Amino acid sequence: MKYRTMGKLGVKTSAFGLGCMRFNGEASGDTVIDEQKAINLIRQAIDGGVTYLDTAYVYLNKTSEIVVGKALRDGYRDKVTIATKMPLGSVSDRQSMEALLAEELEKLQTDHIDFYLMHGIDKEDWEQFKTIGAPQFFDDMKKEGKIRYKCFSFHGSYEDFAYILNDYDWDMVQIQLNYMDIENQAGLKGLKLAGEKGIPVVIMEGLLGGRLSHAPENVQALYDAFPVKRSPVEWAFRWLCHHPEVAVVLSGCNEPEQIEENLRIFDAVEAGAMDENELQLMENVRKAYLARTKIGCTGCKYCMPCPGGVNIPGIFSVWNNVSLYCTDPAKDWGLKRIRENDAGADKCLSCGACEAACPQHLPIIGQLQQAWKELG
Ligand code: SF4
Ligand code: SF4
Repeated sequence: MKYRTMGKLGVKTSAFGLGCMRFNGEASGDTVIDEQKAINLIRQAIDGGVTYLDTAYVYLNKTSEIVVGKALRDGYRDKVTIATKMPLGSVSDRQSMEALLAEELEKLQTDHIDFYLMHGIDKEDWEQFKTIGAPQFFDDMKKEGKIRYKCFSFHGSYEDFAYILNDYDWDMVQIQLNYMDIENQAGLKGLKLAGEKGIPVVIMEGLLGGRLSHAPENVQALYDAFPVKRSPVEWAFRWLCHHPEVAVVLSGCNEPEQIEENLRIFDAVEAGAMDENELQLMENVRKAYLARTKIGCTGCKYCMPCPGGVNIPGIFSVWNNVSLYCTDPAKDWGLKRIRENDAGADKCLSCGACEAACPQHLPIIGQLQQAWKELG
């Protein structure tokens, strides 16, 4: 296991952080079904050198913190740092924040949380957190020793990220990043900005929800032609760890073999480890994925609202994602939501308003029908 120093904090951490939200191999909505298996996985990771565990109040239907707490008995707590999170939806004032933190400490069976994050905030959420006094609460809890570091996790735009980052004395940030998302959300710009301020960055979605772990044919051909053979997962993690601002890369594992594989990968990744040829390969891989794009919709929403109720950018986004990453449309949450909201292309009235408004001059009406047909 390679270890890194977390920016201005000077804390030593394993580069691989175990994400504790996928113990059933599913999204965070489910509960932990096999608790003993989850405990074994957590301990296997720690025994292999992992020192960073990431959980959250809401993960696995609020059971993730409980299973992490149980796994950290028998002396394991002292070997790791714990990151957990406060969801805006569960707090409304000082009293409820105190109650939530107390509940989390109890579930985690610990007297302090190392990294305490405001969970998945954008600018609006941050303003709301300020309104209920969360920054003062975090300051006070840090003074009392109940939390060690004040942090946030983020899924908004770069502009919002820069605003929030500069608006408070943060100790750490957690962002979504992978070689496909370099200009999405906080992106590489956000990573550099945090780095300039000495704020360590923890990475989530390094494999884009697992979508980057299986390469489509045109991408696999690039990997196959490269003289050094590595799996798509290894290339993705290696690319992230190449960036010195990255402190920890989170990876959720549901099988002992996945932990083993990650321990092997993170034993060989270091900042600045990729040479020019490797970096060029990743750029080519990115372009090969993007070449699979179905339609050049930027998601600007100038075409919205649609008088027929069609979620135009939503449908195009799902169409592109399914094509880029060869995923099953039947399992696509975005498509499910569009169907639930009755916002499919079958609601189009062919009025033409969207095409007149689209700055990309996309033939929206015809392409919507094509997308809807292909998505089944
Ligand atoms: S043409 Fe169809 S999709 Fe476009 S605005 Fe009219 S109803 Fe909506
Ligand atoms: S206006 Fe055009 S580019 Fe913008 S979201 Fe609508 S379809 Fe996409």
